[in-house]
This record gives sequence, C-alpha cells and structure tokens, in this order.
Amino acid sequence: MKAFVVDEPGDARLREWPDPLNVEGEVLVTALLAGLCGTDLELIDGTIDPAYVRYPLVLGHEWVGRLEGDVVDVGPAGTFVVVEGVVPCGACEACRRDASNLCAVYDEIGFTRPGALAEHVSVPVGLVHRLGEDVALDDAVLIEPMAVVWRALTRVPLRRGLRVAIVGDGTIALLAVHLVGLFAPATTSVIGRREEQRDLATRAGADSFVIETPSEVFDLVIEAAGSGAAVASAIDLCARGGMVILLGLPPHGTRVELAPDDLVNNDVIIQGSFSYSRSAFAEVVGRINSGDLRPSFLITHRFTLDEAAEALKVLRGDVTKSEPRGKVVIDLAPG
Ligand SMILES: [Zn+2]
Ligand SMILES: [Zn+2]
Repeated sequence: MKAFVVDEPGDARLREWPDPLNVEGEVLVTALLAGLCGTDLELIDGTIDPAYVRYPLVLGHEWVGRLEGDVVDVGPAGTFVVVEGVVPCGACEACRRDASNLCAVYDEIGFTRPGALAEHVSVPVGLVHRLGEDVALDDAVLIEPMAVVWRALTRVPLRRGLRVAIVGDGTIALLAVHLVGLFAPATTSVIGRREEQRDLATRAGADSFVIETPSEVFDLVIEAAGSGAAVASAIDLCARGGMVILLGLPPHGTRVELAPDDLVNNDVIIQGSFSYSRSAFAEVVGRINSGDLRPSFLITHRFTLDEAAEALKVLRGDVTKSEPRGKVVIDLAPG
C-alpha cells in the first residue's frame, strides 16, 4: 500500500509500505481522515526523545477510519471509528490504575507502530471506539489531540471562575481554549504569536487575544507553545496559589531557568502531562458523540495523501505566513 513514511530523521516521503498482516486480536481499519501536528514534525526532524519513536515509521496518530471487520461491542465492518493511539500492555501497574500513557511498555500508533497516513492500519480491537451516526469526521479527527488536553486538565484541581491564560496559538492551544470553557472560567486569554490566529482563538472561546505578554497574572496558565521561553513565560504569568500546565513539547534537551523560591513562596502547581489515559480518551469520544464538542472549525487546511509533503510545509508555517493556521488534515479517501 501507499504510505507516508519517515525512514529516518530528515527522510520523509510517500512510498510503498507492506500491507498490515492479519494479527490475532487486531482489526484492519481503513484510514479516512488524519490530522497532522507539531509532533509529526518532531518525528520527521528527529528532535523527539528517541525513547518515543521507532524508525522507519508510518506517520499519523490523529485519525478516524472505517472498520474492515466486525468488532464485538463496537460494530460491524463499515462502522466509523476512532482508535486510541496508546497501546497499553494492560498488565503493568500504570495500566491497572488508568495511566496507560505511562505503560511500562511504551507503544503508540504513529510513533512506535505504523500510523494512519496509509491506506490501512491494523489496531488492537480493544482500542476501537464507535463514532455516533451523526458525528462529522471533521469533528472526530480532533479527538486524539483533545484527549491529550483533556487528560492534562483533569490532572489539576480546576474550579469555576478561574482566570485562565493559554500561551501559544497552535491547535493544541486552541483546543485548550475550547475545552477549558467546559469549566466555566471567569476569563480566557490567549497569548499568541501571530495576529492571524485571533479569529480562531475567538471561535474557540477566548475572551482576549494578545501578542504582548500581559502584566496581569492568572489562576491557570496552560503552556501550549512548546518552547523553553514559553514555559518560562507561563510560570511568570501564574498567580500565587495558581497552576501551570505544560502541554507543549519543547525539543528534547531544552532547559529552562527557574526561581524555585518564587515557586515555593507562590504556592504554585506545575503539572506536566503526557499523552492521555484510556478514560480521558473515552470521555472525549463521549462528548463528541453527544455533540457537546464540535471542534471542526479548527480545520483550516486539507490535502490528499499525495499532497502530504505540501501539507507538512503548511504545518511548518513556510507557506501560510499571513493566513490563519489551525488543524491541517489529510483526506485519505477523497471523492
Ligand atoms: Zn498530534
Ligand atoms: Zn502497561
């Protein structure tokens, strides 16, 4: 089959890839729509921690598809589905306490096993979730990144009425704006990098969008820009007794200077968050199926698999300097 493959860092292209084998306990899924994100660029560039990738690799970890076989408790062949990417061993201590993101045996679709920028993906049947009849694929394709954000939000003691700041204006930042709205914040401010992102931030639910770092402080600061400078800025923006969530993924090896006495004196929570738990993923699927979440407004660019290289250029910001840039998707079954 045709697939978009990273053979090694710096060498990514569309090429032939072996069809998935029939594996006991797995089912074949036809990939229909896949989102790209900054992590895909890190996989291509080799800037991701080598513990979390195995080359050669078929990219694609945010996706929806159609079952090629029946799955008990999910549906017959033809059912539209979304699939958890983190493949848990199910037996280790982390898996048993709903922390499959910390499974002793790290394995993830699109990182250590073939992803969805291909015609077919073989996936463990236990990770398949049925999509509701009325759910648009454009909404469902954002389930995976929303699960990442959701899991992070559920790690800290959120309450109504918080003053929230989101550092960054990429898709994860905008999804964070959207999801944090479910907790009824007093205000949600986006500290962005590009004026062109203002409208998307507003649609996601932001009350304000600024480029300059504000002088006020916030009860919850979500870092979603993925740079050392953004992490430092997020910590500076945190009010006494506040919380900082680190969602961005700076390049492996990034270091940030901290003033620990300020963190102590200010009684601050700093919460990192990696990937998602099984329950976080299921929760987001439920909210998509119920229609509570409709994030498809974030999709701004659409390409076919043949155009994947062009899509990656857009993702890097090489060709869209003066337009809004939300989620870039690959339509794997156009027409
Ligand atoms: Zn992603
Ligand atoms: Zn495990």
